[in-house]
Amino acid sequence: MPTVELTDLLSHATDDQADAIRAAAHTAGVLWKCRNAACATDDLPRSARRCALCGFDREGEPIGDKVSYPYGPVPGDLLTALRGALVEWFTEHGRPRPDAVTFAYTNENGGAHDCSDWGVLHFGGRTEPSCDFSGTEVAEALIQLTDFEVPFSGAEMTVALPR
Ligand SMILES: [Zn+2]
Repeated sequence: MPTVELTDLLSHATDDQADAIRAAAHTAGVLWKCRNAACATDDLPRSARRCALCGFDREGEPIGDKVSYPYGPVPGDLLTALRGALVEWFTEHGRPRPDAVTFAYTNENGGAHDCSDWGVLHFGGRTEPSCDFSGTEVAEALIQLTDFEVPFSGAEMTVALPR
């Protein structure tokens, strides 16, 4: 059985056929529907981790803290410090505050435990390249948070910011 592109099928289908194809694709998990009742974006591809419109994940949760911390619970006060430093940074610079910021752990730049790759800013389902937080309170808070143990490279940390 050949692998086909869903868009090829849909572009040659009648409305009824397209509905059936979409229904089958949802059942098969090729497509998923946003569970945010206020959004309900349909036909999100399997590869998408978040709704392209509102940013809710496949479990229907808004973007929230997600910290890969292989050696136990994340020290809450350090996460609070990082969140506070981020809020302050966006306020001070007059920049729109994102819903969350994702940092990627790296082992680059000689430091085995810094989040030196500044990751992305999340505005709903839209992402923008992150700002450079070098030399700021944000960088200091990141270093404090990741200084305990060496996180595995490739892990990400998402910090949600208050609205
Ligand atoms: Zn959505």
